[in-house]
Amino acid sequence: MRIVIVGGGIIGAALADRLAPAAEVTLVEQDRPGAATSGASYAWLNANDPADARYHSFRVAALDAWRRVAAGFGDPGWCRFAGNSAWAVAEPERDELAGRVARLRDLGYPAEPTTAAGLREVEPSLRPPAGAVVARFPGEGHVHGSAAVEALLGRARDAGARVLTGTAASRLNVRADRVTGVRTATGDDLVADVTICAAGWRSPLLLSTAGAGLPLVDAEAPGSSAPGLTATTTPVPGLVNGVVHSPGLDLRPTPEGGLVLEAADLDAATDLATSRAELDARAAELLDRARAMFPGLTARLDRVRRCVRPLPLDGRPLVGPQRPGLYTVVTHSGITLGPYLADLVAGEILGEAAEPALAPYRPDRPTP
Ligand SMILES: Cc1cc2nc3c(=O)[nH]c(=O)nc-3n(C[C@H](O)[C@H](O)[C@H](O)COP(=O)(O)OP(=O)(O)OC[C@H]3O[C@@H](n4cnc5c(N)ncnc54)[C@H](O)[C@@H]3O)c2cc1C
Repeated sequence: MRIVIVGGGIIGAALADRLAPAAEVTLVEQDRPGAATSGASYAWLNANDPADARYHSFRVAALDAWRRVAAGFGDPGWCRFAGNSAWAVAEPERDELAGRVARLRDLGYPAEPTTAAGLREVEPSLRPPAGAVVARFPGEGHVHGSAAVEALLGRARDAGARVLTGTAASRLNVRADRVTGVRTATGDDLVADVTICAAGWRSPLLLSTAGAGLPLVDAEAPGSSAPGLTATTTPVPGLVNGVVHSPGLDLRPTPEGGLVLEAADLDAATDLATSRAELDARAAELLDRARAMFPGLTARLDRVRRCVRPLPLDGRPLVGPQRPGLYTVVTHSGITLGPYLADLVAGEILGEAAEPALAPYRPDRPTP
């Protein structure tokens, strides 16, 4: 079977890795693999929202898939299950965190109320203020997106996949309602039995060339919630082991010992019109908040990146056939879900049997 995958982010890379041993796979990436959203993501591996029990257990299965991937690569530095530490100081956040821990525990998910002293046993640098509500989620982790993409595509190449970088798919080729592959920007036609759209937030543009749509939040609209902001710092080895959610600042380590910084308010204020100067000012604010958390922190900003979520209108994955010969895999939380989705999608494409776990997430379902 000939399969063309458009997009070399975490979704395309996980799919190429999973499909290459059994099919003739070609992946086309217009830039560098991992250069877009996946490489700049906060990339917290979690099933931390108990609101939708079915989607929660889907994400728990996705964490297991990552554990298998990590084991297959010999537990690499780019994928760590070092847990998540969170605290809240003010209402309503205190109530929300305590309630979430209780509901997750009811679902059998590892979520533990703890204290500042208890937290210091696993994260000695963290100092939640007295009276904070503190929680640990020991089964969660984080991934360094670009390294993960590189490793997955390396293994896909070893299994025979072709990876064409700097190669844009300018359109889907359609014959008698069947998608037969892609036309590249250089005018070459890549012929496929199945073409997979894994082009992240740019997927609607590609799909429109075959008359297909996708219910994503419009990333280009002013004030859109799809674009976000992350910044990384120079190395400060050993400061934190895992993911941290604190009032006004989220952070996690990079494999080089730096920090990835993110904050919900600064993220929400970022859209595609935000100027470079404004992005830099917000990143400086992130660093100030990190200095307030770790007095004496000497790290400087390393990279400041705007990145765009492929954000389905109802927040859930969009996975499945859209036309004969065309299969779409686009999702928020794609870092958490990538390897699990790749397992399920490979089962459907190679086994030709519909995967029940994907039934709620078809792209043609009614969305708000
Ligand atoms: C600020 C932020 C924080 C996030 N935090 C988390 C988190 O904590 N946990 C989590 O699980 N997820 C998180 N996400 C979401 C997650 O990062 C994304 O869901 C995931 O990276 C999407 O991966 P992707 O492969 O679909 O997209 P991308 O990584 O964007 O890859 C798509 C690729 O397709 C290429 N492409 C597009 N069009 C074409 C074309 N026509 N031809 C060829 N190539 C093309 C692009 O160049 C790109 O490389 C976050 C996202 C953001 C923005």
